[in-house]
Amino acid sequence: MIDMKAISAAMLFSLVAAVAAQRPADHPSVTVDGQTYTPASILARNMGSAEDQETAFPPHKVIGNIYYVGTRTLSSFLIVTPQGNILIDTTYERNVDVIRKSIEQLGFKISDVRIVLGNHAHGDHQEGDALVKQMTGAQVMAMAEDVPALRAMTPGGKEHPIDKVLHDGDTVTLGGLTLVAHLTGGHTPGATTWTMKASEGGRGYDVVIFTSLRAGGTITPAIAAAFDRSFALVRTLSCDVPLGDHPAEYRMKEKYANLKAGAPNPFIDRAGCLTEARIQEAMYHAVVAEK
Ligand SMILES: [Zn+2]
Repeated sequence: MIDMKAISAAMLFSLVAAVAAQRPADHPSVTVDGQTYTPASILARNMGSAEDQETAFPPHKVIGNIYYVGTRTLSSFLIVTPQGNILIDTTYERNVDVIRKSIEQLGFKISDVRIVLGNHAHGDHQEGDALVKQMTGAQVMAMAEDVPALRAMTPGGKEHPIDKVLHDGDTVTLGGLTLVAHLTGGHTPGATTWTMKASEGGRGYDVVIFTSLRAGGTITPAIAAAFDRSFALVRTLSCDVPLGDHPAEYRMKEKYANLKAGAPNPFIDRAGCLTEARIQEAMYHAVVAEK
């Protein structure tokens, strides 16, 4: 005889256990512009699968002299100048060869990289710095507040190169082009949002390469102060073209699909400039409110 009561009790128990195992890690949820997000959904959206993190997204021109050379879920931007190029975010060290190939597909050379910049001191964005430095002799520049975390990043025992320490508001210039480093800490202490001008079709555009503004699990008073400052600061930046350290932050896939010769550049998206910041700010406040 099958004991139905015992079976359903066992099923109920395992269901409750499964829910309990998942729930604590994935709350709160916030809804922004009709989309609901949880910490796990944001992380999944940003990172995708292991394959997504390591597979090149078709390299393409974003606007002006800015090119996308990253993977499906980890951004890497090449900024081309007459005096050599700037690479923002080398991503994981194992992706450096993927980035090199993407740079070559666009008709450029990784050996022309003169300056390496980063968005923030996490391995998925800056682990490859030492290898790129080895391959190119480029100068690696980093925001002061992220230097300790970068120093601790030593893939294969390689020391993390830091040739120049930057501070909030510092500029980086090469070949007549200027990038401004904005300290937008919180996700890491030295998380940096980069701004620059790009010109296309005889017009100038303000480009903002946002760092992640995602709050981690623990929000100390120092982290809270950094986020409060960062969310206010990003609202002051002039922005025509929002980009981010993960493509999903600026809906790259969708915009890339809309790239058409003769049509308006889909990466020009003034209305979308603060979308990601609003999602992360809502989540940040929800996390703080829960504590
Ligand atoms: Zn990160």
